[in-house]
Amino acid sequence: MTGARRRPLVSGNWKMHHDHLAAIRTMADLGLRLDAEDAARVDVSVHPPFTDLRSAQTVMEDRSVPVFLGAQHCHHRDEGAFTGEIAPPMLARLGVSYVIVGHSERRQHFGQSDEDVARTLRAVQRHGMTPIICVGETGEEREQGATEERLTAQVTASLGSAGGLTASAIVVAYEPIWAIGTGKTATAADAQQACAHIRAVAAGCIGQEAADQMRVQYGGSVKPESTSELLACPDVDGVLVGGASLDAASFADIVHAAASGAPRR
Ligand code: PEP
Repeated sequence: MTGARRRPLVSGNWKMHHDHLAAIRTMADLGLRLDAEDAARVDVSVHPPFTDLRSAQTVMEDRSVPVFLGAQHCHHRDEGAFTGEIAPPMLARLGVSYVIVGHSERRQHFGQSDEDVARTLRAVQRHGMTPIICVGETGEEREQGATEERLTAQVTASLGSAGGLTASAIVVAYEPIWAIGTGKTATAADAQQACAHIRAVAAGCIGQEAADQMRVQYGGSVKPESTSELLACPDVDGVLVGGASLDAASFADIVHAAASGAPRR
């Protein structure tokens, strides 16, 4: 199956930026810039900090902003004595559709393990939301030629360790760590090779048919100018955007670039 037949997903990860007032302004601004034509061609998710979710959701509903609400992380348990954590059903009740799981910043700074990623993505699915599972190599691993080995290990640990998965409702984001927040974007050829590899490894875990349906995003210093070339790759089905998603104008430009190359449906 070619990339053109999977509906692109453009996701904006605000990380620890924008308080709830900035979130209201940014979401309202986005509502003025995105239209039905974008929604007919691509899915868009916005992932604000937890404290912004309710405000962002209210603006989205009031103004019919054509985006899905997203979260950046959650715990794998439904409730309990886990101070400072957020449970999947809390997100589902707020209308969250997509949850980023295993972002490299969670893995690096908060010690999130592959096992925890595997548990969390299943918990996210149990509550009707779609996980966006992040995988990617460090600069050192890339220099050693160990990119595919790293991706194989992360994808297998996430998808292959146990059952309990709805294979069709999985998104994987290829996010080379050396490209995140650095201004260095992978070439389209590198992104294609890595995303195709991820799909091939996923096929071994969830079956070829599900892997063919699974969307694989590229993330790492994506800008409006780099979007079209990345999305023209047959195995790149969307982009996960950090810095450039904070500004409604640049994020809308990325969505428009993605929409311009996608069929209407
Ligand atoms: C990210 O945080 O997932 C990301 C890709 O960030 P940036 O676009 O800023 O590199």
